[in-house]
Amino acid sequence: MDFFKGIGDRAKEFSGRAKEATRRPTELLELTKLRYEVTKLYKVMENNKEAVGELVYRQFKGELGLEAEIERLLQNTKKVESDIINIEQQIEALQPKPLVCPRCEVELPSGGIYCYKCGIQVGTKEEAEQQDDNTAKKETGSESSEEKNDKKDEQK
Ligand SMILES: [Zn+2]
Repeated sequence: MDFFKGIGDRAKEFSGRAKEATRRPTELLELTKLRYEVTKLYKVMENNKEAVGELVYRQFKGELGLEAEIERLLQNTKKVESDIINIEQQIEALQPKPLVCPRCEVELPSGGIYCYKCGIQVGTKEEAEQQDDNTAKKETGSESSEEKNDKKDEQK
C-alpha cells in the first residue's frame, strides 16, 4: 500500500511545481522547463494508471477496502492530466510561430527581414537581432533559399 501512496504523493508534488512554472513563462529557459515538467507529469500519469490497474485487479480477485485508494489515485490522475493540458497550452503559446510572407505565403526562416521569394520586408532589424544565434547558424547563404524554391515547385 505504501508503494501506491508514494506515487500519489509524488504526483501531487509535481503538479504543485507545475503551477510554480506557469508564473512567468516568457523565456526560452521557461519553455525548456515546461517541456521537462510535462515529461515528468506523463511519467506520473503512467505510474498512476499502472497502480490503478494493479489495485483494480486485486479488487477483482476479492481484496477488500481498496476503493478509497483507487478513488484517490484516479482523482490525482485527473489532476495531473489537467496539469499536462495546461502546460502543453503554455508550451504551444511560447513556441515561436513560423514566419509567413503576407504576399506569397511561403514559410520563411525565422529572423529574416525580407522574403527570399518576393523580397518584401517581413520583419524588422530588431526582431532579426533578437534571434541572433539561431539565425547565424541557419543562414549559410542564398543557395539554401533557392533549394527551398525548387522543392516548393516540385510539390505543386
Ligand atoms: Zn514573399
